[in-house]
Amino acid sequence: MTHESKILSGLNDAQKEAVSHGPGPLLVLAGPGSGKTRVLTHRVAWLVTSGLARPEEILAVTFTNKAAVEMKQRIQNLLGGTGGVRAQTFHSACLYVLRRDSAKIGIDPKFTVVDEEARRELLVKVAKEFRLDPPDAAAAGKAISFAKNCLVGPDEFPKWAAEKTGEGSLLSQKMAEVVSGCGDAVPEVYAAYQEMLKKVNGLDFDDLLFEAVRLFRERPDVARKWAEIWKWVLVDEYQDTNRAQYEWLQLLVKKRRNVTAVGDPDQSIYGWRAADVENILRFKEHFPEAKVVALEKNYRSVPAVTSLADRLIQNNTRREKKTLIPVRPDGGEAQCLSFTNERAEAEFLAEKISALRGGQGLSWSDFAVLYRVNALSRTYEEALAKRGVPYVVVGSVGFWGRREIKDVLAHLRVVVNPRDVVSLRRVCLLQPGVGEATAAQVAALVLAGRPAAEVLSDVAGKPGIGKKARSSLIRLAKTLEVLETGIREKKPAAELCMYAAESTGYMAKLAKDRSEEGQERVANVGALVSAAAEIDASGGVAELLERAALASGDSDDGGGKDAVRLMTLHKAKGLEFHTVFLVAAEEGYLPHYQSSYGPALEEERRLCFVGATRAKDCLFVTWCRERTNWGRTAWNRPSRFLKEMGFEVNSYLETRRLSGTRWTDRIAAEL
Ligand code: ATP
Ligand code: MG
Repeated sequence: MTHESKILSGLNDAQKEAVSHGPGPLLVLAGPGSGKTRVLTHRVAWLVTSGLARPEEILAVTFTNKAAVEMKQRIQNLLGGTGGVRAQTFHSACLYVLRRDSAKIGIDPKFTVVDEEARRELLVKVAKEFRLDPPDAAAAGKAISFAKNCLVGPDEFPKWAAEKTGEGSLLSQKMAEVVSGCGDAVPEVYAAYQEMLKKVNGLDFDDLLFEAVRLFRERPDVARKWAEIWKWVLVDEYQDTNRAQYEWLQLLVKKRRNVTAVGDPDQSIYGWRAADVENILRFKEHFPEAKVVALEKNYRSVPAVTSLADRLIQNNTRREKKTLIPVRPDGGEAQCLSFTNERAEAEFLAEKISALRGGQGLSWSDFAVLYRVNALSRTYEEALAKRGVPYVVVGSVGFWGRREIKDVLAHLRVVVNPRDVVSLRRVCLLQPGVGEATAAQVAALVLAGRPAAEVLSDVAGKPGIGKKARSSLIRLAKTLEVLETGIREKKPAAELCMYAAESTGYMAKLAKDRSEEGQERVANVGALVSAAAEIDASGGVAELLERAALASGDSDDGGGKDAVRLMTLHKAKGLEFHTVFLVAAEEGYLPHYQSSYGPALEEERRLCFVGATRAKDCLFVTWCRERTNWGRTAWNRPSRFLKEMGFEVNSYLETRRLSGTRWTDRIAAEL
């Protein structure tokens, strides 16, 4: 078999047609589990083996870092090496472009990527000038982020907000939700925040998209250059692109038109981050010559699951109907169960997981517990822990977001971007004896244009600085100087990380903490040095910092650990599990109380649809009549989605399968 036909084998006809589509736009619209992601990776491999594209001419864009890593892996397996194919998130692709060309729109390419934590810090600082307290600053931050994702700058903000309000679209409903929380000061706070970012030479995550679009708009020659580099662009989860991502793509593929988009409008769930499902419709307008392929077979789930999900999503009025036929034979189960309270619910799922795993020879990682909001996870965690079931909460802080990792890297950031006073402040506050006032003094002098090491030595000599602070400031100044030389001489990042961690006594301080948590921190710094050593093979400090910044918001996904996965419905996108527990299916939680009408309700339904369709063999949808939240116990009504799925639900008695035994009997028999 030739390499090319090997890539096409194991695909159905429609999938083959999409994978082997030649040049020109291609749109794959299909339901969950139909092999969209599979088509995308096979298409990348096919483009290379058929000789149409060189690997480095391909850009494959996905939604999360994790999905990008997985995609790279799959391509590697198909091709025996990625050989230069870029599989990235939108953010990292834009960052890649900006690092090389941002000077053309007046941005110093040494800019720092301001992560969520630093962003919050800057916002609180800015908001204070407008007499806003931290919660209001956070609300303004959400509005600013939303606006940037819609490509709206501070000047256009008031007009945009006024125009959008009452438009009746999902975007306008979500915008109203975001903007209503933060009062009239937003445009001013927005402008002041952008000023502040400029001062520290920083771009936040949303800016990466915003500025990359500006670059391509203002400099068509630059856009053309990148279109020659990435001649083939493929996008997964296209239904969740926002305006900025959409525009950037358009500008990139305008000329060559070799764009592949795969997605499912029924799975568009990121309206709160300004994702706009209309983009799929616009795709057809912009590329009238596009080939459109529908995939109509579901390989993932048993018919019991697909039929229930299908019934549910048909309740959405704004949608195009799709056919999705399960290829798997009957089997598995799909049930709805009700419980008195969340403890009973949690105990049930812990027991059920143990029983199913033993009975069917499954792994812990074959199970997922999905909920609407993070705050719900605690009860389930407790029940699993009590039974000794290993679990991971996907959503807790991941490696790159850990304090000790960010502390060590902050030293390097200060050197790479001399105006990064956010990192400088962080580093100063780590030093014994140094407090807020001194850190602020240092930051102000650096912002006035002086080198950090010089400022530190100066401030150390000022009257009023204590002895301890003095010696630690001098030591820090020396550390920064050594790091600067090291970076200039292109010393390995691993070596520089180690030096940064040790020279100011940071590691020694961590090591003093003998608690488990303290020891874990020490081990994490060790892991950072190893990660840096790995990166040294291909890049250096700059690449390390980039990777860290982009991944700082990533949650711990448990890696390859054999453990039950607990996560929000949003996080479950694109994944699949043998058994899924969709918990807390109650009015107020699902649909969320803020989104119980209009287009937002339809998005909640899509969210439920995404959750249900993660299940391969078993799906348990559960709800409780009583749930305690914020210390208050409340009576709940079952989610309207249960009925829509076809379950017979009686709020006060029990829930039954469509045609089956009572759940109580079943459980009694099974446990
Ligand atoms: P989602 O909308 O949830 O992202 P998707 O359309 O991207 O789903 P995939 O994740 O690509 O679907 O595929 C779902 C499952 O079906 C995977 O386990 C995949 O390996 C399997 N699959 C897809 N196509 C085929 C096929 N032709 N033969 C056998 N298995 C397939
Ligand atoms: Mg997919």
